[in-house]
Amino acid sequence: MSSLADSDLLHVWETMRRQTLPRRAAALLAVVAPGMTSDQLAGMRLGERERRLLDLHARCFGPRLSCVADCPQCGETFEFELDARALSAGWPDPAEVAQPASIETHDYRVDMHLPTVADSIAASDGHDAAQAYTTLLQRCLVCTTPTGETVAPEALPPALLQEAAARMESADPAAELMISMPCPACDAVLNEPLDLCAFCWAEVEARAPRLLAEVHALASHYGWSEADILAMSRIRRDAYLGMVSS
Ligand SMILES: [Zn+2]
Repeated sequence: MSSLADSDLLHVWETMRRQTLPRRAAALLAVVAPGMTSDQLAGMRLGERERRLLDLHARCFGPRLSCVADCPQCGETFEFELDARALSAGWPDPAEVAQPASIETHDYRVDMHLPTVADSIAASDGHDAAQAYTTLLQRCLVCTTPTGETVAPEALPPALLQEAAARMESADPAAELMISMPCPACDAVLNEPLDLCAFCWAEVEARAPRLLAEVHALASHYGWSEADILAMSRIRRDAYLGMVSS
């Protein structure tokens, strides 16, 4: 995995700003893994995507994830930090993640495949969370009756759907990251999903205007091109910025 060059960061920020978070995350991962084909990226399981996003965050934006949460019990808003590198400790090796076993009941057979980057993108293109959930079910589950008829996954009994979801979650536990955090003001324990796509994008959105301001300052003063300024090392750019502002 390569680093995220400033010119690449600005390109992704500019081209993906109106896209969904899963599309933005895929664009970032494509930039830092230039040897990966678009098919390989599309077929990447979500646990592997999360692992790569954590790595990207740690290497390009630092290992600390700054979080804000609201306690549902007492209403307290509190901030805390997570270490990106510690989060992935205990995750299974991606090579060891296997597709969950099919479920067979008297009435149905449910075959599953673990959600991929392409599945996540397709789900995120829907209008709302309910449609996203249905899209994910339709893409990841194949349900049939003993006579071979196909059944829409959303028509399955809820208990069977829950069983399928539980099998997928335990097969690829890194795919949906949850954190448990005690509320500092009461005895509640918060269980919050951690959206690494959102964390990485927040860093991109914070860094892009700073980079543009640097280009503006140096281009205005020296007349250098944007490409030349962005290609400069951080040490050299900071030195020139210091001279411009002194
Ligand atoms: Zn609380």
